[in-house]
Amino acid sequence: MEKSSENKTYQCIVIGAGPAGIVATKELIEIGIKDVLCLEQSEKLGGVFADSYDNLILTSSVTFSMFSDFWVGNGKEHHFWTKDEAVTYWTEYARHFDVTKHVRFRSKVIEVKQSDEGTWHVEIESGEKYRAHKLILAIGNNRIPRYPEWKKKLKEVGTSHSSEYRNASKYKDKKVLVVGGGESGSDVAYEISKVAKKCWVSLRESTGWVVPRARGGHAADVSTHRGIWDLPRAFGAQLSPFVLKLERARKDPIFDALAELNDRVLARNGIWGTYGTKTLALPKAIAHHGCAVVEDITEILDGGRTLKTSDGHLLEELDEIVFSTGYNNQVLFMPDSLRNCDPRRLYKHMFHPEIGDSLAWIGWARPGFGSQFPIMEMQSRYCALVFKGEISLPESEVMIQESITDEASYTKQFEGNATRIRSLVDYHHYMNNLSKTIGCYPPIKKYFFLHPRLWLHLMYGPTQATQFRLQGPGKKVALAHDIIYKLPLSTFNHIVKAGLKGRLQYALKALSPFK
Ligand SMILES: Cc1cc2nc3c(=O)[nH]c(=O)nc-3n(C[C@H](O)[C@H](O)[C@H](O)COP(=O)(O)OP(=O)(O)OC[C@H]3O[C@@H](n4cnc5c(N)ncnc54)[C@H](O)[C@@H]3O)c2cc1C
Repeated sequence: MEKSSENKTYQCIVIGAGPAGIVATKELIEIGIKDVLCLEQSEKLGGVFADSYDNLILTSSVTFSMFSDFWVGNGKEHHFWTKDEAVTYWTEYARHFDVTKHVRFRSKVIEVKQSDEGTWHVEIESGEKYRAHKLILAIGNNRIPRYPEWKKKLKEVGTSHSSEYRNASKYKDKKVLVVGGGESGSDVAYEISKVAKKCWVSLRESTGWVVPRARGGHAADVSTHRGIWDLPRAFGAQLSPFVLKLERARKDPIFDALAELNDRVLARNGIWGTYGTKTLALPKAIAHHGCAVVEDITEILDGGRTLKTSDGHLLEELDEIVFSTGYNNQVLFMPDSLRNCDPRRLYKHMFHPEIGDSLAWIGWARPGFGSQFPIMEMQSRYCALVFKGEISLPESEVMIQESITDEASYTKQFEGNATRIRSLVDYHHYMNNLSKTIGCYPPIKKYFFLHPRLWLHLMYGPTQATQFRLQGPGKKVALAHDIIYKLPLSTFNHIVKAGLKGRLQYALKALSPFK
């Protein structure tokens, strides 16, 4: 193995200083692993959000997006950060927890090797080399764009990926197709349809379950609470038509378009068999800016200037195609055997069963609903405990078996979505499982008797990160109480009522002699 540029071996190297790398570094420092180097290729903290489209507004509210132990400021709980606000929060967080001094910017990792004794050797673009006992990959899973096969046939039309999109100016008066309608695709389609001559969106299946970010000034994700999400996932099949009926009753063209998009969700568990698309951007594009939804592209003519869709549409004189078709889970600088790891083959989407406790992926679990940031934090807490030796990973065979069981359970819940989106997890199941492994699952029953007001927040307030600071390793009880009290509580709305109805239904079913 080559000589290192520094004559030392770090306790841990973290690659990437997006939100995942920042919180991972912070948790390592906090547990006492202080000799950490965080390598970041760009000049800024913040990852995707430091370099994304101009009008990006997060789809998870501030309440959900915040890390557990760093308050966002009073009165902002229902707010949705712009990308700059998000970066400011993480920059302040990094400064507060002394993370910044561990970050080496302009340090693009180009190769990682593991020596026979297990030490990680990391080389950056400048040729400098570093060594560490442990390694964290926090490079995000929005790095390597994925395209459909037919892209190769496009010779006469402009193409790009939504990760390159910054604003709609170049699409003015053009005929544009956006492929895919997830959260980024919806934003892109909305902006383009406002200025383009014509904008189509091609959807192979659904766009996930479309929900507005906010309702009546309240962040809609406040309803991502245990009151409803503790129910079995099959209840999603009842919840979906109920929610759709309410959306249609608004008699609003935007919500009619939303209902039509949600009608495309064919998952057995309805809303709980898919992922949330938490923005009204696409319904608005359809209702107010003439954006048209078409099905899958089946034929490419004139080098892509003309496209045929499976529902018989002919898209003619196309100028540009924007692919919002997701990303591949790859880490190109890792050794061959670790380059194409499937998140579902990693133990808890984090640890490679054959490598064990010297390598972790942080940020490769994307929740259907909820937010990715509390998941990154929970993963970082678990990883720090494992790296410190305070929790042991199971034997390799047990990890393999558990990841197979987890995959089967996600396939049962999400069907084809679980196969296609390899990082997709159920937010509540994932957070509950990992927090129980750590020992920081909130003491809900105890709080019912000792702190009934806080109990109400645990059940009917958003299941965000601070709930997991009430006990166990990393607990910060006073701070957690203080923050949880300030967080919004759901109103007695249709979701709370549906949850109560569901509980009654399942309780009666459990008592029934005809089960
Ligand atoms: C447009 C968009 C909007 C999103 N909005 C939300 C939202 O509202 N709520 C939510 O919960 N989730 C959201 N997500 C999902 C997820 O939270 C984000 O993708 C988040 O940025 C992931 O954080 P990360 O730190 O894992 O990865 P990233 O943000 O991608 O950060 C990875 C970092 O690693 C660095 N890096 C990569 N390769 C190397 C290398 N070879 N060497 C050194 N450094 C490297 C990158 O420069 C980057 O800084 C969104 C995703 C996208 C794409």
